[in-house]
Amino acid sequence: MTKPLISISNLQKYYGSYHALRDVSVEIGSGEFFSLLGPSGCGKTTLLRTIAGFESYESGALRIDGRDMAGVPANKRPTNMVFQSYAIFPHLSVAENVGFGLRRRTDLDGAAKVRRGAEALAMVGLDGYGDRAAHALSGGQRQRVALARALVLEPKVLLLDEPLSALDKKMREQMQSELRRLQRHIGITFILVTHDQEEALTMSDRIAVMFEGRIAQLAAPQTLYSRPATRDVAEFIGTMSFLPAEVRDGQAEVAGLGAMPAPNGLSGSCVAGVRPEGMSIAETGADGPLAAAEIVESAYFGDMTSYRARLSGTEALVEISMKNGPGVAVLEPGTQTSLRWSPEALVFFPA
Ligand code: ATP
Repeated sequence: MTKPLISISNLQKYYGSYHALRDVSVEIGSGEFFSLLGPSGCGKTTLLRTIAGFESYESGALRIDGRDMAGVPANKRPTNMVFQSYAIFPHLSVAENVGFGLRRRTDLDGAAKVRRGAEALAMVGLDGYGDRAAHALSGGQRQRVALARALVLEPKVLLLDEPLSALDKKMREQMQSELRRLQRHIGITFILVTHDQEEALTMSDRIAVMFEGRIAQLAAPQTLYSRPATRDVAEFIGTMSFLPAEVRDGQAEVAGLGAMPAPNGLSGSCVAGVRPEGMSIAETGADGPLAAAEIVESAYFGDMTSYRARLSGTEALVEISMKNGPGVAVLEPGTQTSLRWSPEALVFFPA
């Protein structure tokens, strides 16, 4: 992480008796694309709104750029928020919408305001749209206007609350890469709230995964995916199959796979998790660690085939994804085969 811009320590937030943020501590870097990811109700919007100054908190501290934000109202913070519903004014033009936040600024003359507005529109790819009526824009264009309206105020931190969730899949994917490019270009801190794990993985420098008001893991996308800290995180991000395991004296006995070294600090009943691409169907004559298995289900997706297989000696099923290509046969349910795996692909959790 670069120099911390936002520093949150031991934040506790209640709605009445409901404990919405439980001892949340996190530092967010200057120029970082940071995401808050988690299921509905985990507290990610509450944390974002707390940073924005729309929510108070019972204890803990929130500092932005070295300054304690206690008692600082939302409009005096170096943050700006883009909402899920675009909240643009349909009866105003695009330029009027974008310039709205600048209207009371006495330090800028009319020409400077117009120039700033045009620059913000250019940033979001709406060059020349200033005179259009806001009500006549598509969903994606409206979201860009909302972005430009936030950017024109030159915040240090842009807070984005599920900004793409109202868009269709194609437009959402396009806006994801545009937002990422924009963030890199202007270099300010973006904090994105999303419940969409793919969105978080593709866009973020780091992700905080939240459950029930707590941060369960804070890491870069690759680390979250390949080394989830808890089984909850592993299940929330991507697909993972779990095999029962017994650990004693640094050695694990994993159902269907056999003995292998166990990570430090584990003992007793555990589970070993493996991602679908962590195992593959072995070609005939392959060596290395192999496990006998029966194909239970197969689903053909064109570029790849997804299998469920039962390893011999256990009832647990593993999911495997195999890339298709010339000479790769799709195996039918009932086929006896062997799976290639490597100990590095396994992640252990307490049972
Ligand atoms: P979603 O993705 O559904 O928006 P979230 O993770 O953003 O979920 P929050 O909106 O932060 O979740 O809400 C966290 C919890 O706090 C939820 O259980 C919610 O019902 C509760 N909550 C949120 N706002 C209030 C409020 N103003 N008064 C009482 N409870 C609230």
